[in-house]
Amino acid sequence: MMSNTRKTLLKMMSAALVAAVLFQKTEPVLGQEGIVVESPQAVADFGTSITFTAKIKAPLPIQQVSLLFRGVNETTTRVEPLPVSEDGLVNFIYDASANAFPPFSWIVFWFQATLSDGKTYTSDAIKFQYRDDRFPWRQISQANVTINWYAGDDAFAAAAMDAAGAGLLEMKDFIPISLSEPIEIYIYSNVNDLQDTLLLGGRNWAGGHAHADLGVVLVAIPPGVSQFSEMETKIPHELAHVMLYRALGDLYDKQPAWLIEGIASMVELYPNPDYAHALEIASENDTLIPFTELSASFPADSGSAFLAYAQSKSFVTYIRDSYGTSGLERLIKAYGEGFSPELGATQALGISLSQADQRWRETVLGQNVGGVAFRNLLPFLLLLALVLLVPLWGAIDLLRQRSRRSNG
Ligand SMILES: [Zn+2]
Repeated sequence: MMSNTRKTLLKMMSAALVAAVLFQKTEPVLGQEGIVVESPQAVADFGTSITFTAKIKAPLPIQQVSLLFRGVNETTTRVEPLPVSEDGLVNFIYDASANAFPPFSWIVFWFQATLSDGKTYTSDAIKFQYRDDRFPWRQISQANVTINWYAGDDAFAAAAMDAAGAGLLEMKDFIPISLSEPIEIYIYSNVNDLQDTLLLGGRNWAGGHAHADLGVVLVAIPPGVSQFSEMETKIPHELAHVMLYRALGDLYDKQPAWLIEGIASMVELYPNPDYAHALEIASENDTLIPFTELSASFPADSGSAFLAYAQSKSFVTYIRDSYGTSGLERLIKAYGEGFSPELGATQALGISLSQADQRWRETVLGQNVGGVAFRNLLPFLLLLALVLLVPLWGAIDLLRQRSRRSNG
């Protein structure tokens, strides 16, 4: 918990910041000819709408005004031409139910006005956070981690902070940990509340999600007997996504899904007791998913997705046990350099992804070694057959020609 002195200090700092921003906003934006945007506001009704309002002042008659806005990490800017009232008031209601911004992401907006001199003037950009304000969030912070929660007591939040700390310790040997950039963890009390925020079609089973680029982690953990195991599973997993993103930057998206999810699942402190069973059944029924198919993305349906997580965790653990942490690092590097799923493994481990997949099935799942060996040999056997067949046909042909000649 924060001491009162620190709280006061923070309040003073944020008051100073607000004062600075307000001061900036009252200054003319582009000298005497430019526009002045008075009391710009963005008010979000989470999941429904965002209402933008402002008063535009200009020394010349205003011909046209546009509102421009985008998520801080987005590349496309939305542009909305707006009618202006006589006293310069503008107002726009954005439908946030259809085109949702990620919860707790930051949105920037600014205005452009064309005046009667034909020139277009642009205001400063203003940033605001699109918070899920449907719940009475409370928060505690330690180092760069903040736990936000609304159900459960203080001990619940303290346990969540402990799980975050333990998760960071668990991953620090193979993921670079940043302790300066803030991480916001939001704990919803049930999956429905969380899923309302995610709006991820086809991911109804998700009990957690990381907006890795925003440093925002969302998890659903109901207070109660299972809270500890859920915290120790979900919080480290989603934190691993954030830390991997921060370590890899643009290279994060080049990694195969099985590798990222396998690493994130490996740092879960409470192993999922159902993974081993799922692997056993799939191995017996020959329904394991080849890792080459788990590279672009994971299956959408919950059963296959569950198996995909179970496989990825087991496979990445196998790679770490066989090739060490440096093997994992070489894999991440190879995929970051743009190697295909198959060849990235060849580059990093000396065997293709399919071969690694087969060795994992043999070593970890105890699959039929002979069968696997035969499949490994099959291409060579075919090649051998071709090599033998071609001269054979040649010889037969030669014999035929000879016999024809001798007959003639
Ligand atoms: Zn994940």
